[in-house]
Amino acid sequence: MTAENIPRATAKRLPIYYRYLNILHDTGKSRISSTELAEAVQVDSATIRRDFSYFGALGKRGYGYDVDSLLSFFKQILNQEHLTNVALIGVGNLGHALLNFNFHKDGNVRISAAFDTNDAIVNKIQDGVPVYPITELAHQLKEQQIQVVILTVPSSAAQGVTDDAVAGGVKGILNFTPIRLAVPDAVLVQNVDLTNELQTLIYFIENFGK
Ligand code: ATP
Repeated sequence: MTAENIPRATAKRLPIYYRYLNILHDTGKSRISSTELAEAVQVDSATIRRDFSYFGALGKRGYGYDVDSLLSFFKQILNQEHLTNVALIGVGNLGHALLNFNFHKDGNVRISAAFDTNDAIVNKIQDGVPVYPITELAHQLKEQQIQVVILTVPSSAAQGVTDDAVAGGVKGILNFTPIRLAVPDAVLVQNVDLTNELQTLIYFIENFGK
């Protein structure tokens, strides 16, 4: 089974499993049952069993899953073994926060280049990351072989910047703007609408909370 054959919904849960298995590994635990795992990661155990079956980890009755072999599989699938460079486009409030955060806890992803139109920050280093003029986007993505970008520009700029990123060979966009981006089929877009998420949470608390 290769990464391409794994259903998208399963693939999205892999980082959750991976993180928890790492914690187990660090505490010296060598095996875990799907029920225990279900409780820890808040995914039901039938889903976990189905997810794991996609990559041939069937788990033995009465034994559960072997933590180390699952971990080495996830490492491979999630590309944890090599560093992925990501670009951030739009160094405003949210962009700054992400630059500052820089995903250091997971170790395998980092923002290595940023882009903006603002002369005050262009050609300077922000939170350890060089900020390039947006006009250089396509060229720099190709040059630095960056295939994933985080989009934190204003909505009005989102599609134009996306088109340039696509011209630069981008394969994935983490989109923090509320705009639904038009991209070629080969480009994956993951939308993160923080306002929407927060409002959904509040709605559920108000309507279904205790
Ligand atoms: P945020 O929305 O993250 O809170 P903000 O309110 O500080 O940010 P925005 O106006 O949303 O600012 O712009 C975010 C960043 O995107 C700014 O740094 C701005 O200079 C930059 N920006 C605006 N237009 C473009 C563009 N076409 N290409 C690249 N960057 C842009």
